[in-house]
Amino acid sequence: MEAQVQVVTRLRAAFRSGLTVPEQFRRSQLLQLVALLKDNEEAILTALHSDLRRPKFESVLAEIEMVSTELHHALSNLSSWMKPQYVDKNLATKLDDCFVRREPVGLVLVVGPWNYPLQLLLLPLVAAIAAGNCVILKPSEISAATDGLIAELLPRYLHQDCYAVVSGGAEETSALLTIPFDHIFYTGSQAVARLVLQAAAVHLTPVTLELGGKCPCFIHDQVDVAAAARRLAWSKFFNAGQSCVAPDFVLCSAATRDALLPALRDTLQEFYSQEPQKSPHLSRIVSPRHCTRLTELLEKTSGKVVIGGESDPEDKYIAPTVVVDVAEDDALMKEEIFGPILPIVTVESVTEGIDFINRHDKPLALYVFSDSSSVVRQVLEKTSSGGFCSNDGIVHMTLPGLPFGGVGASGWGKYHGRWGFETFSHQRACMLRGWALERLNGLRYPPYSEDKLGW
Ligand code: NAD
Repeated sequence: MEAQVQVVTRLRAAFRSGLTVPEQFRRSQLLQLVALLKDNEEAILTALHSDLRRPKFESVLAEIEMVSTELHHALSNLSSWMKPQYVDKNLATKLDDCFVRREPVGLVLVVGPWNYPLQLLLLPLVAAIAAGNCVILKPSEISAATDGLIAELLPRYLHQDCYAVVSGGAEETSALLTIPFDHIFYTGSQAVARLVLQAAAVHLTPVTLELGGKCPCFIHDQVDVAAAARRLAWSKFFNAGQSCVAPDFVLCSAATRDALLPALRDTLQEFYSQEPQKSPHLSRIVSPRHCTRLTELLEKTSGKVVIGGESDPEDKYIAPTVVVDVAEDDALMKEEIFGPILPIVTVESVTEGIDFINRHDKPLALYVFSDSSSVVRQVLEKTSSGGFCSNDGIVHMTLPGLPFGGVGASGWGKYHGRWGFETFSHQRACMLRGWALERLNGLRYPPYSEDKLGW
């Protein structure tokens, strides 16, 4: 705890000195992050492989490319984001300067999860640096290799008085959360989010929550089944299903399910061969404990496993699995699956699908697969979710122009691109007045009269 307080004291002093505020400084640190990625790509990919046995291709896409895109977007747009934003004026303020000034909030705490351990720490870091803040990163202890690498690399590239990594698990994070911050940015489970909120309430600290939940994928009868199977399987089994925006379950009619199953079988064979456990293209579950949770879910389900179902806890392996005849109250439908198990729930109409979605918490992402643009619009307009994507999964989060975040129980607040810059900025309302037009001001001073109101 003493060490944590020392880090906070050092970073607070740096923030008060104004070091992180000039655009030039922000740029220099963002460029250092570009260099960190470039110089250490192999080490990063090795660490991610060691944590998740994730294929290099997936790590390049989901971690290196995601962070690089965000960095280049921030570097290209920083000057315009930092400019004061002039607002419309009225007669009484026509000679004044009226503008919104984006100011850094101060010292930010970023707490990350293990599933994309680099991306989910560095994307908020990029936004917080761009906005001129000091930052403490708290990686997940579960992705130990990546956590260790980030803790080793960051101080070598970034200014040590402004940015720091504090490692540890629940105990260390709880201790850290007793210290006042100016903003807490938390990515992880809903259960821990409640603890973060309780700790933040003590200091009235603003909080961004990037959470999970169950992301539905509604598949309409009018659809290219082969393409739907490929896009669904890719977005579900990428990182072995351990993605907050992975389609958690499918909603479709019995007829579509019957057409989809052989297409999914073919796709999975094409992606991971007949022996997926030997495939270098399929990630592993992060730990034996997480693997057990998933095998227990498969034991508890009253649905029928029609594809996969095999597991090997010693190898942290769960086969890409599809389960049908899954009821709304099944064990697989009670919690976020966060693994390579795909339940299919049958609904016989678009309206039934929409009602099903609206009976549950607002998801982080909602997917609709259909050839009919009117069906896509109908689902879009009649539901709510953090993000929405038709005829694909996950890819909507790769654009820095789109905000990323949940709604309701799937999260509070947004980031990516300008949205992250705004999250870590205080939008200060500024009116710079002079002494002119004092006669006009006389209209609002006592003694009041009806005439003055009529003016
Ligand atoms: P988690 O909540 O277990 O851990 C997240 C962080 O909280 C870690 O840094 C961990 O050390 C810390 N932590 C754990 N227990 C704590 C406690 N008792 N007190 C204080 N801190 C504690 O989450 P996870 O298992 O790492 O991640 C999986 C969850 O995160 C899933 O629900 C997933 O959907 C969600 N997620 C959301 C997003 C998003 O962007 N919305 C992205 C990735 C993951």
